[in-house]
Amino acid sequence: MRTYVPTPEWIVLDWHHACIAAELLCIQRCTGCGRWRHPPRRFCPACQSDQAAFEPVTGSGSVLSFAVSHRSLDPGWQAHAPYATLLVELDEGPRLLAATTTPPGEIRIGQRHAVRTEALSENFVLVWADPASHDEPTSMAPRARGNPHD
Ligand SMILES: [Zn+2]
Repeated sequence: MRTYVPTPEWIVLDWHHACIAAELLCIQRCTGCGRWRHPPRRFCPACQSDQAAFEPVTGSGSVLSFAVSHRSLDPGWQAHAPYATLLVELDEGPRLLAATTTPPGEIRIGQRHAVRTEALSENFVLVWADPASHDEPTSMAPRARGNPHD
């Protein structure tokens, strides 16, 4: 069943177009100081520059939080309930919301996911997060990182 597909505007539409053109997840990056930021904004919060570009990122990140929906007003999403929506922190720093096919009971905070985009129209990409094939240590488990005895 078809889901509702929104039509973004302004700089957010630019972000969707960048992801579609690159066929990759892109994130806005300040050309003045190099800081990544999401959602897209007109000015850099670090150096106030209005110069920025959308650049591809690895898509690798960790689950920071998630919510489980048990029902949806959208018939297309209702068919998948219960489903989770993830807040993923990319390795580059920005956080973004993502749909996932990971069953809610299998999601853990700090779990590694690979974020990708799916073009649903010429103006909109849906962000997905799939479980990473190798569940490597993350910033949420600092004791597991850098310990030579592990
Ligand atoms: Zn900047």
